[in-house]
Amino acid sequence: MDTPSNTTSLEQLKDAYEEARGKHLKLNMSRGKPAPSQLDLSSALLGAMDSYMTADGTDARNYGILDGIPECRQLFADLLGLNPDRMIIGGNSSLSLMFDIVAALCLFGTGGNRPWQHYRYAGTPVKFLCPSPGYDRHFRICEELGIEMIPIPLNEEGPDMDLVTTLVRQDPLIKGIWCVPLHSNPGGVCYSSRVVEELASMETAARDFRIFWDNAYGIHHIYEEVALKNILDACEKHGHPERTYYFFSTSKITFPGAGVALIASGPGNIKELKGHMSAQIISYDKLNQLRHVRHFKTPENIRAHMAMLADELRPKFDLVLSKLEMGLKGTGFASWSRPKGGYFISLDTRPGCARRTVALAKEAGVVLTDAGATYPYGKDEKDSNIRIAPSYPTLEELDAAMDIFILCIKIAALETNNSK
Ligand code: PMP
Repeated sequence: MDTPSNTTSLEQLKDAYEEARGKHLKLNMSRGKPAPSQLDLSSALLGAMDSYMTADGTDARNYGILDGIPECRQLFADLLGLNPDRMIIGGNSSLSLMFDIVAALCLFGTGGNRPWQHYRYAGTPVKFLCPSPGYDRHFRICEELGIEMIPIPLNEEGPDMDLVTTLVRQDPLIKGIWCVPLHSNPGGVCYSSRVVEELASMETAARDFRIFWDNAYGIHHIYEEVALKNILDACEKHGHPERTYYFFSTSKITFPGAGVALIASGPGNIKELKGHMSAQIISYDKLNQLRHVRHFKTPENIRAHMAMLADELRPKFDLVLSKLEMGLKGTGFASWSRPKGGYFISLDTRPGCARRTVALAKEAGVVLTDAGATYPYGKDEKDSNIRIAPSYPTLEELDAAMDIFILCIKIAALETNNSK
């Protein structure tokens, strides 16, 4: 289908839309899931077990070693520049580690401070800063646990730090901030060293203020390798060794839902967490940890694997970006991110057009992430942000879906123009 030119009238656009709708397509750009061809690159992982013994002679088939087998902690410590003794390899999901930790802070508090649920039941719930647009599942954790969310603009270098430092200095009820510091979901933002330093050094009114550092896309470079300053080292240097919980997982490296996830933090936090975990679980899946170690062996091999995954993703990102350029450049109908890596492209329609665009696309068989999902409480005040997930569809599907999506952006923009 040809994308109508930028001077096409609303009538002509609607004709093209009806034609597209008549094709009864079923296309999906909502899911940040790897395509089967990416998963195939990890197939050898399934056979990577010739013996079940770890390096120190532990039988990985049995209970034991709550914090994860040493060689697995060492592999990820070397990959990410972390201390293997201040790390716990959890189960198959970093999100569940995040939920468990925030829930533990609500129930038990940290460092001898009051449990956060105390504030909730006293009628003054604790608050988290939420750089937005951000990851909807972080926001769901807060909603589920009764934590109030304050949206913070996410700029090119990271969150608006003038606002962050002012708020955390003034308000002792602000206990946390969510950060996706590299190739953020959805905007592809990479935090600068200045932002990391400020987060690590800033004065906070709450003694138990915590940074939730979700480095989900920490090695997921597509166009350009971006370096990230080590937040745990920076926090330690500034005298706040317990300020940050650092999360990472292999969900988008090997198999989502069947990878390994980790948490790294200060010595006090790790000790506390092991205490809570020992009431929750005897040990996580060591066979999967061992399988990942046997399969990859070295950080260099993991990086080489990421380069192959990037080769799979790049043509899809290229296609989406070139379609946006061709269809929308110079129209003023939308602006969009040009990510260096990660899984998403973030697009902003004209204010007031995102919901309508997503609804039109759905009617024509193209499913996008719900408009608003990238903001706390699902509320995008400008009704403008839409997340595009190009990884799962084939190139042919993406091509067709983008034509319809661009058509819908134009129709929504012209409709709001006409109604003014
Ligand atoms: N954090 C971010 C920013 C994500 O985008 C995702 C997956 N979409 C996750 C965490 C989930 O990771 P896991 O599978 O390890 O729970």
